[in-house]
Amino acid sequence: MDLLNSTLVELAHSIRVKKISATEATQTYLNRIDALDLKIGAFHEIYSQDALRRARQVDDGLVRGPLAGVPLAIKDVLCTELGHTTCSSRMLDSFCAPFTATAVRRIEQAGAILLGKTNMDEFAMGSSCEFCAFGSVHNPWEPTHTPGGSSGGSAAAVAAGFCSAALGTDTGGSIRQPAAFCGVVGLKPTYGRVSRWGLVAYASSLDQIGPLTRSVKDAATLLKITAGYDPLDSTCARMSVDDDLDDVDQPVKDLRIGIAKQYVSNVNEGSVTAAIEQAIHIYRDAGAEVVEVDLPHTEYGIPAYYIVATAEASSNLARYDGVHYGHRTTQAEDLIDLYSRSRAEAFGPEVKRRIMLGTYALSSGYYEAYYLRALKARRLIKQDFDKAFDKSNNGCDAILCPTTTGPAFKIGQKIGDPLEMYLNDVYTVNANLAGIAGISLPAGFADIHGANLPVGVQLLGPAFQETTLLRIARLYESATDYHQ
Ligand code: GLN
Repeated sequence: MDLLNSTLVELAHSIRVKKISATEATQTYLNRIDALDLKIGAFHEIYSQDALRRARQVDDGLVRGPLAGVPLAIKDVLCTELGHTTCSSRMLDSFCAPFTATAVRRIEQAGAILLGKTNMDEFAMGSSCEFCAFGSVHNPWEPTHTPGGSSGGSAAAVAAGFCSAALGTDTGGSIRQPAAFCGVVGLKPTYGRVSRWGLVAYASSLDQIGPLTRSVKDAATLLKITAGYDPLDSTCARMSVDDDLDDVDQPVKDLRIGIAKQYVSNVNEGSVTAAIEQAIHIYRDAGAEVVEVDLPHTEYGIPAYYIVATAEASSNLARYDGVHYGHRTTQAEDLIDLYSRSRAEAFGPEVKRRIMLGTYALSSGYYEAYYLRALKARRLIKQDFDKAFDKSNNGCDAILCPTTTGPAFKIGQKIGDPLEMYLNDVYTVNANLAGIAGISLPAGFADIHGANLPVGVQLLGPAFQETTLLRIARLYESATDYHQ
């Protein structure tokens, strides 16, 4: 069996019918990580012994479930009792979480094997995995390019065949953008769909946990297992999860695909424009109606996001003061000095920049000018989507748009220019601001100076309509072979 290209669903089946043992599958992935991860840097920590022990339990019939024996990787922002949870920050380099995040617990209860924790931009702030305290991540397709961020380690691990699938988090695009850059599927669920309990907070009103996978069916399978009410997260929706959420091959009746002129821009590279045009053809050929929708407030997304996200980050990261949490300096003269030195020593430059921006936006006299206005823009962006998805008013089932303006950029290319880095998220942040669902799909390749780099397309769908969104995504996938 070709383990490195098999999907999670195929692997789970093969283990169940004993075509391959969980031990063999786990060992194959561990060998590959061992041989190649020095070049990629996808993992921060690998749990070989624990993974193999659990694999033997699966083979002995002691662990069962829909994911029994399937090796998965977890972004290092999700708390696990096993090993460390560092958020790729010196601040937490020795932190051992006393509990396991609900999403991780659910996949473990389903029988999955935790292979290791993946690298990320520090505290999930970044778009390139260059802001990692323990070394950057390289794109498996072309190691001089970034894998995207902040879930770049998870995306690279799936693309490099280091695991069957991975979990990431998406605050402004951190699942979808690295998925596009690494040629895998990345799903950001609706806000409130998956419990955030045990996810180290960056921007609490935007953060969501979601899967990075080799197929739409795999994404649906992982979403079905991780989604659903959790009393430990008060923002987790009290809504049931559709039984047929993973039944992605069902047709969508009277399918209407929306195209927004605000996403058609001359900053999009040719490969991205071509991918969108091809996707439009595929949907038309499948009998869908392609309609124009208007999202007039799209352009306020980036400014609103970088106010809201940094404001929440400045508040969430206040707890890392060397006393409550995190690295403590050995040099302090008094308490205030201890706080400031601990933070100065352990936070990286991008995290410091975000804390300063956010603290400024919230400070007295500026709150109305920045934070409150950003919240108003956020409301308008959400209303745009509500209108676009209103089917009683010529709306659509999903909006088709680029995930990014182009394929993966070079390591070092944008690191000196924060604004250019932030503009990476231009097509992804609005879904987070509106709380809706989004998915990025492999959509072709671009030849960049002889390097073959993946391109993604994105589908955005209404809140809690993942079942439909995944079927629409599967329709595209079934007409293409990029995911293979
Ligand atoms: N790149 C965006 C940021 O830096 C998104 C990050 C994320 O989704 N975690 O904020």
